[in-house]
Amino acid sequence: MERPLPSRISRLRHSMSLTGAIVATAVGVLLPVILSTSVGIVALALGKGTDWTIFGVLVISFAAAATGGAVVVTVLLSRRNRLARQQADFIANVTHELRTPLTAIRMYAETIQMGRLDNNPELCRASVETILRETEWLEAMIDQVLTWRAASKDMDRPDMQERMLKETVGVAVERFRRMFLPGDVQFEAELNSVRKVFHDERAVESIVLNLLVNAYKYTGADKQIIIRLDDVENGVRLSVKDNGMGISPAEQEKIFEPFYRVDSRLSGKASGGGLGLAIVKHHAALHGTTVHVESVEGRGATFAVQFPGH
Ligand code: ADP
Repeated sequence: MERPLPSRISRLRHSMSLTGAIVATAVGVLLPVILSTSVGIVALALGKGTDWTIFGVLVISFAAAATGGAVVVTVLLSRRNRLARQQADFIANVTHELRTPLTAIRMYAETIQMGRLDNNPELCRASVETILRETEWLEAMIDQVLTWRAASKDMDRPDMQERMLKETVGVAVERFRRMFLPGDVQFEAELNSVRKVFHDERAVESIVLNLLVNAYKYTGADKQIIIRLDDVENGVRLSVKDNGMGISPAEQEKIFEPFYRVDSRLSGKASGGGLGLAIVKHHAALHGTTVHVESVEGRGATFAVQFPGH
């Protein structure tokens, strides 16, 4: 889907201000630096005596220091600009995402309030179910933002307890089931593990829900999602497999970065803030493990996390 116009305009404005900064740097720093370096070289090459040598060395050192300073300032400025842009995009995406379920909730609630479904209990029940389903999406999105805030400020205090991983994963699976109409997704949960593993319940629920929501978002109309939990040699392996659009090898390296999104896929429920996988990676690290992805573009993806345990 094409990027909305305001975002393109702000990008254009941003690139113009960046060009201005580059021109200013070139004129304000590079020109004097080139001139001073030339003077220093001439002094060293043609000047006779110690005074000229000291003068030449000093001028060239000054030019080198000025160049170094300009490079550092440019790098810091462009990093700050990139962060500001990512945050602005993030707020726009999340607000847009929150609006979609809110609009649906309001519409169904108003229809019920006006009594339009009084004579149709079946439709009334279906509407209430839609409201609840959309509320689950809202809650998942808000949880994601709050989880990321805690993670990025190092405020999350994991509560590691030895429990059956299957029970924790089961809670997230049930939550996910409440997010879609049964006929919408061919969803299988094969939770075979019986092992107890030290883990933080909320973090594991967040890993599972983020992976399942992604599997839902990045698959087409015929959605097939399988979550598995298996006891393996040195722990328990969690995997979420989908039949969606997959991820190219180049993108596979970037998708775990916070705020990173594969832009061309922005549409409907597939919009997001680019935090889901960064959260999964963060929670996996809290459990001393990592998250792996296997995918062939156009042929789905499998995300896996292996929890250490015996
Ligand atoms: P978000 O879904 O909000 O964009 P994530 O961090 O969860 O943020 O994902 C980052 C990007 O990785 C997504 O924008 C998407 O392009 C890609 N991605 C994640 N999961 C999948 C998946 N199961 N199939 C295909 N692409 C995926």
